Amino acid sequence: MMSFTQFLQTVSTETLKRRSDGVTASTIASILSRNTLSIEDFYLLLSDGASGMLEEMAQKARSVTRKQFGNSIFLFTPLYISNICDNHCPYCSFAKQHSIVRKHLSLDEIKQEADSIAAKGIRHILVLTGESRRSASPEYIRSAVEILRERFSSITIEVYALTSDEYKMLIDAGVDGLTIYQETYNRELFKSLHSGGPKADYDFRINAPQRAAEAGMRNVALGALYGLDDWRMEAFVSGLHAYYLQNKFPSLEVSVSFPRLRPQAGEFSTAHIVSDRQFVQMLAATRLFLPYAGVTLSTRESKRFRSAVLPIGITKISAGVSTAVGGHSGDSSTAQFEIADSRSVLQVKSDLLQEGFQPVMHDWNYAYVR
Ligand code: SF4
Repeated sequence: MMSFTQFLQTVSTETLKRRSDGVTASTIASILSRNTLSIEDFYLLLSDGASGMLEEMAQKARSVTRKQFGNSIFLFTPLYISNICDNHCPYCSFAKQHSIVRKHLSLDEIKQEADSIAAKGIRHILVLTGESRRSASPEYIRSAVEILRERFSSITIEVYALTSDEYKMLIDAGVDGLTIYQETYNRELFKSLHSGGPKADYDFRINAPQRAAEAGMRNVALGALYGLDDWRMEAFVSGLHAYYLQNKFPSLEVSVSFPRLRPQAGEFSTAHIVSDRQFVQMLAATRLFLPYAGVTLSTRESKRFRSAVLPIGITKISAGVSTAVGGHSGDSSTAQFEIADSRSVLQVKSDLLQEGFQPVMHDWNYAYVR
């Protein structure tokens, strides 16, 4: 079976770059008049030449989103269960070299955190760990899932890349979703940012969503971390990754996300800041290329910005968030990054209703197949 990296080699970015040089407003208007976009169309929508047509792109993306997803917005909350990490990612507070408050929840502490989140009405949980097999082993994650499945109807994991057998074990325990970010699709940059830890294997990570799908995962979410490299290329390759998986696994629900770097422990700074306009361009371009894909928006973004971009293509948002281990019930630890939207679940629900959206707590698709 062709892997995603093999598929990528069939796409000539050199040719696409040459074509994007001549992009005009009428090229973009012609793309926007079509219902199905090609890979080349997607590339051109992300180009500098398309930035003058942002309003038209956003309007079309808004109407495509409403047609496919109505006014529903799924809510979820992340649950950090361990921040011990063997990697040195310079953009993350949990990196091994940082002197932070480390915490690894016992199963009793996981129950407390889960009860506290469930009491707010949340039914979809995202479980996160640092990347350390010796601390947060697959068996530890499975034990956490066994606790969570009693309280939540949908469980997604955001942990280090696993083998197919490990994904299968967690699916059997009750996991239905995988979130995994490639951080950067630029292989050389990835190597330089992740040397010296288990995350260094670019191919093992990039093929994780495919392994999970082959193991029977119902949904996968992927993307890059924006701020590490050129946003246009990262958004393009993320979109192709989702496109590849949708074609390869027609029953798989595929989502993308565009997390922008936030302040964290350490001194990492970026030369690749993504502006709000650029964010809107990649969101609209991705929605138009992938009309059926879910798009998640996290509390890395402010309330104001989240409200502004919700109609353009977002289908799922987090609420009542803490990025610290133990942040929902007990003594907390160092947060992974600073959040920009600290609204409670109740506040987010009420704001969504006021903005004309229907907050959805329970994913009935998965509740019935359990
Ligand atoms: S991004 Fe993940 S792997 Fe890297 S330091 Fe943070 S928790 Fe560890």
